Amino acid sequence: MSGQPPAVSPQPSTSAPLSSSIGLLGGGLAGLALAALLAHRGHAVTVYERDRAGGKLRRVTVGGLSFDTGPSLFTLPGVWRAFLARLGEPDPLDLRPLPGGLGVHHTPFGPVPLPLPPDHPLHAAWETYGAPARALTPHLETLLTTPPRLTNSSFRRASAALFRATGGHLTAEGWVRSRRLPPALAHAVRTHALNAGLAPVDAPALYALLPALIAGDVARPARGMGALPDALLDLGAARGARVLEGAEVVRVDLAGGTLALRGGEVRRHDLFVSALDPARLAALTERPARSPVSRRTVSGVALYAALPEDAPLPATSVLPPADFATFRAAVRAGALPPDTLALVHADGPRLAVLLTAPATGRDLPPDHPWVRAQVERVERTLGVPGLLASARDVVALPPALYAAGGHPGGAIYGAAPPAWRGGPLHPQPYRPHRRLWQVGTGVHPGGGIPAILGGALIVDRLMGEGGV
Ligand SMILES: Cc1cc2nc3c(=O)[nH]c(=O)nc-3n(C[C@H](O)[C@H](O)[C@H](O)COP(=O)(O)OP(=O)(O)OC[C@H]3O[C@@H](n4cnc5c(N)ncnc54)[C@H](O)[C@@H]3O)c2cc1C
Repeated sequence: MSGQPPAVSPQPSTSAPLSSSIGLLGGGLAGLALAALLAHRGHAVTVYERDRAGGKLRRVTVGGLSFDTGPSLFTLPGVWRAFLARLGEPDPLDLRPLPGGLGVHHTPFGPVPLPLPPDHPLHAAWETYGAPARALTPHLETLLTTPPRLTNSSFRRASAALFRATGGHLTAEGWVRSRRLPPALAHAVRTHALNAGLAPVDAPALYALLPALIAGDVARPARGMGALPDALLDLGAARGARVLEGAEVVRVDLAGGTLALRGGEVRRHDLFVSALDPARLAALTERPARSPVSRRTVSGVALYAALPEDAPLPATSVLPPADFATFRAAVRAGALPPDTLALVHADGPRLAVLLTAPATGRDLPPDHPWVRAQVERVERTLGVPGLLASARDVVALPPALYAAGGHPGGAIYGAAPPAWRGGPLHPQPYRPHRRLWQVGTGVHPGGGIPAILGGALIVDRLMGEGGV
């Protein structure tokens, strides 16, 4: 650092008397969603994004075809509708049901499509399994969108409903064991604990109910997942929010009310909101925090392939790890599991293969022996040998890329809280400093679009109550 203080360029002030100038760090879905909400209440919001808006969800071109990276399943759309209701906007996304719901789960006990259709031999077991989820459904949206306070009666009712549905079990594994499900269904249900980025023995019990809660309502915008960041950008821009791409924040001086950008420019704001990983934020405020691999959620390698012709596959196929204990031991040690969870999406000539990997920030290119072995397992199981090799072009997004702008090691959902803190009792560092608020995966365990959007609604409400 030079001894000379850098020039401070003031933010334009707004005419509304109660409006604040807010500097929002990170233009992923969380940052974009909160920017629109804060701008809607009249604040002058500037989003600083080191790379491109959208964060993990962005468009890449592979072999001349456009792919949306990162999240591929739009679940619990009621949270998105609650977000639009706060803005008083109609739905611009045109959400369409994803054919085949959560897809076919290729368990060691046989294939299991979720949801299970009425003519399937396991349908009756699926109905029994899902019964507690039906009672929880109306409350889940409350839990995702309401500040977690015991003084709030709807929060209390929703938390009690969650407790009843999970039967007092802390973990997904504990809940599954208590139900005595047929092995194939139990394996498919355990697989969804990985929606929390954790093995079933570490994931909150709620995740064992997720297939029943979401299987009937899995959607995708008609114009692809990339329509979501586009819509958030439009909603923010219409309210005056500014998004600066290629603007990396390198330091935040909370006492002085300034942030510094790479290149030296310093900006002043009344308040800051971080939509970054908390460890990344701590480094910017010069309070670095440690994050051991064993306490992170998983990362992944996403392969996007342009095929010469349409893939002969259903829309979604899921290959769970054969053994969850082996899988867990490997990822906690930062080692590559012998077989991993693979999620395969086929859409005409577009093929996406998402492989779960430990959050070590490694570069795992398509020709890495482990990646090749996982792809061969996928092709063998789905009966399409050599499918990826036939691709005109393949792009791989490894843990190293997710680590570059996201959570340590590329952990998809950041640090892993203990199972009992993964639900309504999650850690709530919404306002770690009088000038600083936090939103995004770092404050909402489980991550994913519903938690991100619900978290933005919660923080917007708390900021409003706090006079912001
Ligand atoms: C392969 C994959 C599959 C997934 N599948 C699903 C799914 O099917 N359904 C679902 O709901 N969710 C899914 N998710 C999770 C979902 O993508 C995330 O929960 C969500 O995108 C996180 O958004 P975010 O804004 O919290 O974080 P991010 O998207 O990580 O955004 C953080 C932003 O901050 C920026 N940034 C970092 N440091 C700085 C700095 N110093 N200055 C300025 N900007 C900075 C980064 O560049 C980034 O744009 C998936 C994720 C991955 C990776």
